[in-house]
Amino acid sequence: MSKEESVAPRIHALIERAQARGKELSLTEITELLSITTPPELDLLWQAADWTRRQEVGEEIWLRGLLEFSNVCRCNCFYCGLRRDNTLLPRYRLTEEQILEAVGRLSRLRIDTVVLQSGEDPYFTAESLMSLLQAIKHSYDIAITLSIGYRPKSELAAFRRAGADRFLIRHETANPDLYAAFHPDSTLADRVQQLRDLRELGYEVGSGCLVGLPGQTLSDLAADIALVRQLDVDMFGVGPFIPHPDTPLGDASPGSVSLTYKMIAVARLVLRDVHIPVTTALSTLEEDGREKGWTRGANIVMPNATPAPYRAQYELYKNKRCIDDTLEHCRGCLERRVKSVGRVIGQGRGTSLKLARRAVPV
Ligand code: SAM
Ligand code: SF4
Repeated sequence: MSKEESVAPRIHALIERAQARGKELSLTEITELLSITTPPELDLLWQAADWTRRQEVGEEIWLRGLLEFSNVCRCNCFYCGLRRDNTLLPRYRLTEEQILEAVGRLSRLRIDTVVLQSGEDPYFTAESLMSLLQAIKHSYDIAITLSIGYRPKSELAAFRRAGADRFLIRHETANPDLYAAFHPDSTLADRVQQLRDLRELGYEVGSGCLVGLPGQTLSDLAADIALVRQLDVDMFGVGPFIPHPDTPLGDASPGSVSLTYKMIAVARLVLRDVHIPVTTALSTLEEDGREKGWTRGANIVMPNATPAPYRAQYELYKNKRCIDDTLEHCRGCLERRVKSVGRVIGQGRGTSLKLARRAVPV
């Protein structure tokens, strides 16, 4: 009996429909795909996601250099090691000189995107961030993604004018009650509004969610995919929650790795030409998480460009992978890993295909 024969006919038909017309799936159907557990059904799901990835975004895997320039945060998200009440964490901020030096290393390694990420750190005013963006653009031909949490729309517009190309802000969970339970400083509605504002301002927009927050259900995760489908984001990042001992969720169980793969695969089927990264959190929980993620729908990876003494202090959770490797080492390691799954590293900025299509006059 072939593997395919042992797949329940209803699931077989659903995966086939998802592969052909995943954008049309209902919330119930998305939840049903996330409920799959038998190995033959999972194999079929991975194949469908991999086929769709190839059709929609091709063979390239794009590198985005992650530069964690400040671990200071005014917020108190319950799961995050950077939360302001974690007084055990030594805090740092990189200087403009250190940031430019790190961007220079990315540029020399032909990594053409830098993701400037930080806690919500008011020390970096709109003026200082604009001057930083201008300085980077003046010296380097590189795409800039900001991942700095909430900022008012007027500042987002100013950052765009100063050279920011993309903005990454996860909605974290589409369940408003769950969002409220773990985020004392913001609401889901605020985050969603920021995602809409960013689109309106011409950014390439990335959202994402956590898998395995205490109390989260499969329907909640299906709603995460449905929300980003509605928002028409350019990138969707999904990673397992990993408990940090010095946070209120320190005793909770980590998110499921297999459910994270299912989220990647189903997101590929539903969202089609979106960029989907394999997250550091996933590769922290599973050594070959990157390879598995790339063959189940993902097409992005984010090597760490933060200078060595600070990397360990950007401690969202403990035991982050690749904490001691240099960026040069990471580049070589990723090249081998990408090759091992028969794919190629993208050359250039890896601009959103959605954006390119949106720009075509009708
Ligand atoms: N402060 C900005 C924000 O919240 O958008 C950007 C930096 S924040 C550290 C980036 C992402 O880290 C968050 O969107 C969250 O999903 C993820 N994160 C934080 N704590 C985590 C944990 N314990 N396990 C997995 N991911 C976590
Ligand atoms: Fe701050 Fe972002 Fe961590 Fe929340 S997730 S505490 S906003 S760094």
